[in-house]
Amino acid sequence: PTDINTLADEYLRLAYHGLRAKDKTFNATLYTNLYPELGQVNAIPQDIGRVMLNLFTNAFYAVQKKKECGADGYVPTVSVSTRRTETGDVEVRVRDNGMGMTAQVKEKIFQPFFTTKPTGEGTGLGLSLSYDIVTKGHKGLLTVESQEGEFTEFTIRIPS
Ligand code: ADP
Ligand code: MG
Repeated sequence: PTDINTLADEYLRLAYHGLRAKDKTFNATLYTNLYPELGQVNAIPQDIGRVMLNLFTNAFYAVQKKKECGADGYVPTVSVSTRRTETGDVEVRVRDNGMGMTAQVKEKIFQPFFTTKPTGEGTGLGLSLSYDIVTKGHKGLLTVESQEGEFTEFTIRIPS
């Protein structure tokens, strides 16, 4: 039994402060919207934590990239929310208002070694590993919605 709310909140901060330690100029607004009384879910905390860390790290990268493109008044924002679905599954959503992705990129993101990042900045393994952890390790779903230049939202669904 794992407390997903605590994991989500802690890993968001961990990812954010990890980045800030390397780059003091980096900043983003963080939102957490945690479902009260979510209860516990059968999950391996280290593994789901790793998935969250991957999603948050990607999200921060995406908002950073968009900021560099320099739209006035842009507020980099990363949010995490949790909920219990009608069928009792637990959902975690990670959303960013970063650069988003094209349909062509979106098709390939779960393939091992697929990356759009410059050499040294990405291995392309984060999402393929995350996909296996969620779908094989937890019999769950990992899905994505994205609009180029606007937003990206990943949803982890773990069956109860
Ligand atoms: P890496 O981060 O090493 O590139 P990942 O497997 O984590 O590898 O991600 C693969 C690719 O998916 C990224 O290179 C990027 O093109 C795309 N991607 C993942 N998350 C996001 C996001 N939040 N916003 C935009 N693109 C993303
Ligand atoms: Mg990554």
